Amino acid sequence: MGFDYNSLLMASGAAGIALCFTLMSSWLRERTSTFLLTWAMCIAIIIAAIVVFSVFHSTVNVLHSTLAGVLLTSAFAISYGGFTQFSTGRFAGGPVAALVVVGAAPIVVSSAFGFDGLSFVFINLMSALLLGVCGYRYWTARAESPGPITAIAALHAMLALSFLLCVIVLAAETPLYLDGKVPDNWAEALNLMVSVIALTGIGGLFVTVHQERISRRHRDASLIDPLTGLSNRRALFERFPDGHVPEGTGLIVFDLDDFKGINDRHGHTFGDTVLRSFARMIEENCRGDDIAVRLGGEEFVLVLPQSSPTHALALAERIRSIMGRMVHPMDDRPVTCTVSAGVAVAEKPGLSLDTLIRKADNALYLSKRSGRNRVSQTTSTAA
Ligand code: GH3
Ligand code: MG
Ligand code: MG
Repeated sequence: MGFDYNSLLMASGAAGIALCFTLMSSWLRERTSTFLLTWAMCIAIIIAAIVVFSVFHSTVNVLHSTLAGVLLTSAFAISYGGFTQFSTGRFAGGPVAALVVVGAAPIVVSSAFGFDGLSFVFINLMSALLLGVCGYRYWTARAESPGPITAIAALHAMLALSFLLCVIVLAAETPLYLDGKVPDNWAEALNLMVSVIALTGIGGLFVTVHQERISRRHRDASLIDPLTGLSNRRALFERFPDGHVPEGTGLIVFDLDDFKGINDRHGHTFGDTVLRSFARMIEENCRGDDIAVRLGGEEFVLVLPQSSPTHALALAERIRSIMGRMVHPMDDRPVTCTVSAGVAVAEKPGLSLDTLIRKADNALYLSKRSGRNRVSQTTSTAA
């Protein structure tokens, strides 16, 4: 094969240490990504296993091979916990503990009965099974970042396969006893080479997926209004990339009445509470594909796909009426706040979002001029 076993052991150890540092530094920058820390821990345990394996190589002592095997399978079992942190944010302690026991038990039991060859077979078999389980779970979670996560699953599978090859060769050569010989065959060497590639590859891919998560989070945050949690103006315009709305799209603009007075009388913090309550209420009154937006200040927009003037008007009227009856307690005193609305519907194709908002705004202006706490709609000729 051209490589000696010890050099390969050292190479996989060195790759592991480098990987450990990369994962730790990524975790330090974003501490909520605990799966990175768990993987760094797994790599540290794998390095410990490699060190014990190299001691075993010079001593051929069953205690060392057993310890190295238990460390290795425990690392792969813990990496399953890394997967649960990756997919749910929580470390599944119970299943991981069970996997540690299931992985270690056949190794320890066969060693205890003196079957050091069989114990070696189990080290490889249990490693293959645990890696297979993890790889399969990443495969099922690949929708988040299909490229990198599919590659993570493939590297797990590749590594699992190389452990399985070791099982086959070991089972053929030394089924029960090592007879004082260190298992040193082409499958072991291949397994170590694959380990170097897979461990560094998986670590690098984890960092990529982690970076993708961070940029996605920043992008999402830039599209959400922090006070109400509704979409913001930018998100609204991103929904219609060519700037046009489909025929039949309804749009309601809401503007809270005398909101400056509410702030002046009861304070800005109270005003914020009213804004949040209104946002929650319009969300509750939306259909699943309606888009609720805080346009800015105390102005909100509801976009209603496949609507009609009757439907849009009825919804605006319902929201206006609910808001008028909502009580916002302030120091045990009931405070009410009304809302005015303007409704427009794209009754022909090719209308721009800007134009539809302007039409609804014109209607809103009408509501304000005629005394507030009411709903108006644009006439079909108004622009
Ligand atoms: P109108 O009935 O004509 O709409 O009167 P208005 O007082 O609601 O309108 P105006 O445009 O004069 O005032 C809007 C107020 O909304 C002024 C501003 O302080 C307040 N406002 C804007 N954004 C926020 C916010 O995030 N929180 C709070 N509490 N108030 C806000
Ligand atoms: Mg306003
Ligand atoms: Mg207002």
